[in-house]
Amino acid sequence: MTNTTNPDGSLVVRLDAVVENYRICQRLSGTKVGSVVKADAYGLGAIPIAKTLYEAGCDTFFVARLEEGIALRCSLPNVRIFVLDGCPCETAAALIAHHLTPILNSLAQIETWARAAHTHGRTLDAVIHIDTGMNRLGLPADELSTLSGEARERLKDINVVLIMSHLACSEDPSATMNCEQLTRFRAALGSFPPAPASLSPSGGICLGPEYAFDMVRPGIALYGGNPQPGRPNAFKPVVRLTGRVLQTRRVDKGESVGYGATFRTQGPATLATVGLGYADGLMRAIGNRGAGAIDGTRVPVAGRVSMDLITLNVTGIPAPAVGHEVEFIGDTILVDEIAGAAGTATYEILTNLGRRLPRTYVRAA
Ligand SMILES: *Cc1c(COP(=O)(O)O)cnc(C)c1O
Repeated sequence: MTNTTNPDGSLVVRLDAVVENYRICQRLSGTKVGSVVKADAYGLGAIPIAKTLYEAGCDTFFVARLEEGIALRCSLPNVRIFVLDGCPCETAAALIAHHLTPILNSLAQIETWARAAHTHGRTLDAVIHIDTGMNRLGLPADELSTLSGEARERLKDINVVLIMSHLACSEDPSATMNCEQLTRFRAALGSFPPAPASLSPSGGICLGPEYAFDMVRPGIALYGGNPQPGRPNAFKPVVRLTGRVLQTRRVDKGESVGYGATFRTQGPATLATVGLGYADGLMRAIGNRGAGAIDGTRVPVAGRVSMDLITLNVTGIPAPAVGHEVEFIGDTILVDEIAGAAGTATYEILTNLGRRLPRTYVRAA
């Protein structure tokens, strides 16, 4: 794919693949899918992605922050937007003004929201988040038991539209914690009046129907990441990150490459330097470990990654011309592979894709 506006790097987001992944989530879970578009849809662009999912039938979205919810509301006036941070102090008025639904994480947040409802003279929608073992957000066991004993009073001005919890280990289907959290979640649901329930992020969608409840909340699966690394990925690649060869050179045996001279040629070699670097999201950790792909052939990274440049050892393949396209994430090098080479998670790769890379949205591959 040519890119005349930016000769060095290109980030293509396949919206058709996002929709396909949304459908796969629907099929696998057999239940409603709420799309997680927090952190600008994992760096890929919350507005274009959410609009596309809305056109595909999705009417429920999750964001982390109030500001993310406000931005999304401007584009999508008629969808349900859940805010994971809940209603920390002083955000209630803005949540109400923008028709955002907080995910209440503590008795204190429930109190704040109930007071806001009282002030506005009407009941307000909310989600109750119960902690079932992650110990991050959500009502801990003692607050849960207080709430279930006093639900009638504490929730009288709140319309509970969803009760949710979050799985800590859903990327590992053999983790016993999954089943423990499922048991705790079911017990917690039993202490409330009936309401729709949600437990699973992408990984949970792959754990089986008993984890689906009334809504699943995929993020990474929509963006093509493998929710359960080590098992086959059911989801389609969404991101294609490419750069262009800026210069090639032949060097003798024993020459070094890049900062720190951490790579030395074992014999006569051909090197290709590409105009992408860690400022674009190619993690410095893939130095001497990761790969690029030229016309579908993997070639190893030679030496350290620089801010704007990366050098590949193209010895043994036809030397690419200046301007030739090199893929770093795409169909040959899956986003999960570069995450593995960098020693991190696919989530961090996506959210670190550099802001200077223009995002190009396509609807067909
Ligand atoms: C981020 C998040 C998700 C989505 O997780 P993925 O693993 O990307 O599918 C779902 N639920 C909650 C509470 C989250 O914070």
